[in-house]
Amino acid sequence: MHTIIEPFKIKSVEPLYFNTKKERKTILEKACYNPFRIHADDVLIDLLTDSGTSAMSSNQWAGIMQGDESYAGSPSFFHFEKSVKDVTGMPIVIPTHQGRAAEKILFSILGGKGKYFISNTLFDTTRANIEFSGAEGIDCLCEEGKHPTIPAPFKGNMDIDMLKKIIKKIGAENIPMVIMTVTNNSGGGQPVSMQNIKTVSAICKENNIPFFIDACRFAENSYFIKLREEGYENKSIPEIAAEMFSYADGCTMSAKKDAFANIGGFLAMRDLDLAIHCRNLLIITEGFTTYGGLAGRDLEAIAIGLKEVMDEHYLQYRIRSIEYLTNKLIEAGVPVMQPAGGHAVYIDAKEFLSHIPVEQYPGQALVCALYAEGGIRSVEIGSLMFGKYDISGKLVPAQMELVRLAIPRRVYTQSHIDYVAEVIIQVFKIRNMIKGLEVIEETPLLRHFTAKLKPIN
Ligand SMILES: *Cc1c(COP(=O)(O)O)cnc(C)c1O
Repeated sequence: MHTIIEPFKIKSVEPLYFNTKKERKTILEKACYNPFRIHADDVLIDLLTDSGTSAMSSNQWAGIMQGDESYAGSPSFFHFEKSVKDVTGMPIVIPTHQGRAAEKILFSILGGKGKYFISNTLFDTTRANIEFSGAEGIDCLCEEGKHPTIPAPFKGNMDIDMLKKIIKKIGAENIPMVIMTVTNNSGGGQPVSMQNIKTVSAICKENNIPFFIDACRFAENSYFIKLREEGYENKSIPEIAAEMFSYADGCTMSAKKDAFANIGGFLAMRDLDLAIHCRNLLIITEGFTTYGGLAGRDLEAIAIGLKEVMDEHYLQYRIRSIEYLTNKLIEAGVPVMQPAGGHAVYIDAKEFLSHIPVEQYPGQALVCALYAEGGIRSVEIGSLMFGKYDISGKLVPAQMELVRLAIPRRVYTQSHIDYVAEVIIQVFKIRNMIKGLEVIEETPLLRHFTAKLKPIN
């Protein structure tokens, strides 16, 4: 087979920012060993997130110019609405400024004390919005999904037996919604099978529980179904996506992911009563129903991006570039999550830096080493992000110490990815010289964004 090439040519370019290792060491020290504190123009390859960092197409930029900024009834809204309806088959479409705004509206209405929301894995903003309403979130991930280095085709699936047990125990009347996250972002971007979506949907129907999809990466998930699930190899991505959505009563979406937009999101559903409540809240918190916190130009960019993301040449390049990096690392013996997910590569830092105890944040130490060595920015998903303290002030570590390298869509080429692999492998060779870190300043909530750290000598 020929090399899988980037399915685009480049019309407008942005410079990369080069600096020296010596400069980066000073920058890191000034940023208190927290890459969230580093200025982006001190970063060479930025793999902090795939959210809102996509490159838009010339068509999307043309749409930006054509955006109509009327307060009510903008043609750009109707273009957006049609595009969302075409993809999801949902009759009601409500624009929001981000995915979490859709979540805030939905869970403010359906949440509250004594309610439980069940998911394969709730994304952190989803969980936060559920908990903020007073309700609780329950993750019900399949067993395969809990073992990072053992490959399986659909590690994002929900555990069906556990779902049934939980519904029985809690009572369907206390479960306002089941939410399936596709792909499973917090679980490593692992896909959910059509069979699993179909079964969960049927169980929800039997119990009269609304079933929603957190659709941020619906196109990546659809492509995995095409590649890995029997009976879907000859179906088109729009057909697969339409089938996925056909099992759901609604969805939330961040257009910063699989819509190639720099901002935006939406809420779509079938139930008119629920939609009336949502629109009321939308007007208070986001804006009128035909713009929902977005400019007309953003609505155009999303309308176009939603269609472009389902192009199979793009999806092949997308999924392949993640797999390509993952495989290069596996060949070099670097411990990574397997198989490759849809949007990011995850390194197991506990194993990579096995000489650093979890109390000294091996994930953060690796994030810092990757920056110092090659100017790559990644993010720790481990005890700095999820660790808690017990009453004696001792760290209760997270389950895993991972480092995530999220790949922005259509932004980097194969040689950039080769460079990233080289840097990681170089750091792997000198791993014994890397030191642990201690926290010297932190906030009580979401400390990883702002914490200050220093190396332990
Ligand atoms: C990003 C994301 C969200 C939240 O979307 P924002 O646009 O960042 O507010 C929700 N769920 C998943 C799975 C996500 O990846």
